[in-house]
Amino acid sequence: MKTDQKKFNEPYWWSQAKPELIDELEWQTTSDVLIVGAGYTGLSAALTLLKSGLKVIIIDSELPGYGASSRNGGITSGKIKPSFKELVSKFGLDLSKKMIKEGEVARQDLYDFIRKEKIDCDLKINGMFTGGISKKGFENQKKEVDFNLETLGIENTIVEKKDVSNFICSKKYVGGIFDKKIGSIHPSKLVLSMINMVRENGGFIFNKTYFKNSEKKGTLFHIVTNRGLVRSKHLIIATNAYTDKNLPWLRKKLIPVISEMISTSEIGNNRVNSLMPKLSTFGEALNLFHYFRPSPDGKRILIGGRRIRYNNKDKTKKLMNGLLEIFPELKEVEISNHWYGYVTFPFDQIPKLVMYNGIIYAAGYCGSGTVWSRWFGKKAAEIILNFEQRSAFYNIPFKKIPFYNGYPWFVPIAIEYFKFQDWWINSKE
Ligand SMILES: Cc1cc2nc3c(=O)[nH]c(=O)nc-3n(C[C@H](O)[C@H](O)[C@H](O)COP(=O)(O)OP(=O)(O)OC[C@H]3O[C@@H](n4cnc5c(N)ncnc54)[C@H](O)[C@@H]3O)c2cc1C
Repeated sequence: MKTDQKKFNEPYWWSQAKPELIDELEWQTTSDVLIVGAGYTGLSAALTLLKSGLKVIIIDSELPGYGASSRNGGITSGKIKPSFKELVSKFGLDLSKKMIKEGEVARQDLYDFIRKEKIDCDLKINGMFTGGISKKGFENQKKEVDFNLETLGIENTIVEKKDVSNFICSKKYVGGIFDKKIGSIHPSKLVLSMINMVRENGGFIFNKTYFKNSEKKGTLFHIVTNRGLVRSKHLIIATNAYTDKNLPWLRKKLIPVISEMISTSEIGNNRVNSLMPKLSTFGEALNLFHYFRPSPDGKRILIGGRRIRYNNKDKTKKLMNGLLEIFPELKEVEISNHWYGYVTFPFDQIPKLVMYNGIIYAAGYCGSGTVWSRWFGKKAAEIILNFEQRSAFYNIPFKKIPFYNGYPWFVPIAIEYFKFQDWWINSKE
């Protein structure tokens, strides 16, 4: 592959902060906690544990930060997929309230962490506009906003059609909601900073080291990796959508889906400002929505969505068409990067923080992990540290996915179904 083509297929973020091999350390055969996966989840768990003086090893089968944490859209949503009404029907009012509010706390905790640690990752809290594409869709959004205010005290702004241009210069949206607390980060700058922090605080990170299996013998986990054995008091699995065959229990409970993005080449601050006057982030009130945002320097637009088929021939076409539906005036604009990564969904679409056979699993953030993964990593560590305050999500069990062995053959069918549902809801004016 030519270098240019290679660069084209790398996340835009990597041109400024690319995951790299880190120095080889002497192999460690014992730890208090071994963490599998060096993304936001694993690194956040490590940072919390290191503060309490524990010996922590993180192993990653690839380069640390190579997974979704260095390639995501960087939108700090902190939302969960099911609506509040759906949550209440499954978990009751009290727990549902706690779950939604925990997302708000987790998001603020991420901002506090970035500021306190002075992490240079382009944090901007410019809000998120979620556009409705039909009257019916917009009516549903309004109902949800009213309901959230009444029952949870969470305030979002309803943006009527006449005011949409204050948020976005696009005819696609008939209205929308604006959540001023959502922001954006430079995802790979954040994950690389967290890697450095773990190392500075005495954590051991091993590249290209994969988890094979583990067995509990007495009080210790005997963890087998391709580099050798580690005896550890605790074990955290933080592999999320990159969970491989060596973790069959978790793999059979998660449905991985491709999320892909493109970045435009530089179109200049003035042009971006005129299209996105608040330089905020964006989503759409759809199952199969686009998410988009300005680059941190405000000169480009980055847009992402789910990939419907695994082997698209023209991989950038769908996203470029999506961008042009929103901003037809960008027809002549070139794409500088196209990349993809994996996000993952538990069957009930509730992020999971679960202890099973003594192992702590944190995963299943349904594409909204910038906030949740760092938070669940911290909460996983706090379970080990015996903190009283547990996450509202703690030990909500994984739902079994019938006839599923970890190979998500049904995803294209499910995506077509969601596409139909989007069409159905938005065509009934
Ligand atoms: C294109 C894209 C856009 C996204 N946009 C957003 C967004 O705008 N906002 C948002 O909130 N979320 C977004 N997400 C989701 C978010 O990036 C993830 O939820 C989050 O980064 C998950 O972090 P993690 O640490 O749990 O997992 P990851 O960062 O994926 O790390 C998991 C690690 O586990 C390692 N691993 C796997 N198996 C093994 C093994 N056997 N042994 C050792 N190591 C192993 C992998 O190599 C990997 O490095 C997006 C994701 C993608 C792919």
